[in-house]
Amino acid sequence: MHTPEALLFVGPQYTDSRRKSANILRRHFLAALDPLGIAIVSAYLRKTGVETRLITMEDQSKADYASQIEKADAVFVSARQFDRDLAQEVLQTADRLKKISIAGGYGPSFDPEGFSTATARVLGEAEPVLPQLNEDWLSGRSLSPTYDATTLPPFDLDQYVWPDRTIFPRSANPFKQNTQEWQRGCKNRCIFCSPSRMQGGIRFRPPADILAELDNLHLKRGDYVFSVDLNSMVIPKEQLREIFLGLSERGLRWSTEGTVAPLIKDFEINGEKGLLGLMSGVDPKRGGCYSFHYGADDLSSPKVCGSYDKNLNDLEKAVGLFRQFTIPLNLSVIVGLDNHTYPESFFEIAGALTELAPGYTFLHIATPLKGTPWGDRLDRDRKIIDRTSTHYNHRQAVHEPKQMTSKQLQQGYYWLLRTIYSPPMIARSFQRNFSAELFIKNPFLALMVTGIPWQTEAWTSVTELTARGYLDRKVQKEMDAEYQRWKGERANSGNRN
Ligand code: SF4
Repeated sequence: MHTPEALLFVGPQYTDSRRKSANILRRHFLAALDPLGIAIVSAYLRKTGVETRLITMEDQSKADYASQIEKADAVFVSARQFDRDLAQEVLQTADRLKKISIAGGYGPSFDPEGFSTATARVLGEAEPVLPQLNEDWLSGRSLSPTYDATTLPPFDLDQYVWPDRTIFPRSANPFKQNTQEWQRGCKNRCIFCSPSRMQGGIRFRPPADILAELDNLHLKRGDYVFSVDLNSMVIPKEQLREIFLGLSERGLRWSTEGTVAPLIKDFEINGEKGLLGLMSGVDPKRGGCYSFHYGADDLSSPKVCGSYDKNLNDLEKAVGLFRQFTIPLNLSVIVGLDNHTYPESFFEIAGALTELAPGYTFLHIATPLKGTPWGDRLDRDRKIIDRTSTHYNHRQAVHEPKQMTSKQLQQGYYWLLRTIYSPPMIARSFQRNFSAELFIKNPFLALMVTGIPWQTEAWTSVTELTARGYLDRKVQKEMDAEYQRWKGERANSGNRN
């Protein structure tokens, strides 16, 4: 009997072709994250006897997709907006070879037209519609052009099917992060965010199921888990405690992304006995949080537009508290939003980050993604200047910002990277965050708290971008000089920077 085979295509994790050295560092040492969405699709397919194989679509790849697609029965593509152009190639090849193709993920959900070559497109979460789609395919019925989960109630995470991790290639990376989902949805509605729109209602998995899945992975003490992600932390405190304690007892090092306001509030009520105390991983025999990523996003505004709990005022408190509990706090900051001006916003961000000295800050260029209020408005207002999907990597300016040119945005972004990750600034940040006492107890955590691995990656990136001629030397020099003047004026007016 013929066993049907499906090829599962996903986009690359490393999306910046301008920063090759940084991508190598990330791939081998810093972040190795397996894509969970396509692994869930694989789990559903395998339940019905389909064999699956994962293929990562790489930008400028010379891989011969045709010979692989020819031997398969169907092609499933999980695509973000970034992956659209890569996915087109796969879908067109499948079409030419008369193979069934199904596209899902953020890309098709928000831009169905961009994936019109697919036999069928899945809109929204896959789980509510996968059983029907699978049945249609395997019984030989024609597929519907669209399987729309956005009109159905959000998928109940009590029914969560564990991802099929057998599709992931074996990894020799000692820092490999075992990705795991804890919740979906977010209370915030940041105007540029697509996950909160795609995921719909707020839900979370039962702690017992999360811990059982971890046990099933047979991880060793000291292994890494990355929870994607906590967003606005809707899991009730008692259940979070159960998860954090479970991770600790298993000696797992974990990281996540989330907002800091609920943790600050919890500390104000429960002090050291609260969640931050449970997250702290000073004792290397027990697990703990080795990276908490907070999307502070807009440092030029008192509150992130569309959010309810991302306040600029909380940042200083958060950095202090995370330092107190030796939990590495990494920030994400965006440039190029409507309220940002040139060069003042870049100087404000550089000044704020110098003052706060968090472990590490991921700097991003605001990217107008389809399906978000901000991205859709820019599209309507004809402010999008570049539609090459592989440029939507948060590191290239693809829109004309409201109060600067796209070139100013790009060069301002490079200037920020250069300024924050210059060797003297890295040394300064190290001094602020390094603790000899912690280093004696837990050397790895002590290094993570300083952010030095990521800072080295950022410095390598800047060096490569400079060598490859992406930085406009004249503009960079002018910004350097103006920043010195700006700092002088601030110091004279009583604001220390
Ligand atoms: S907090 Fe994060 S996940 Fe939630 S809406 Fe804002 S950017 Fe999106």
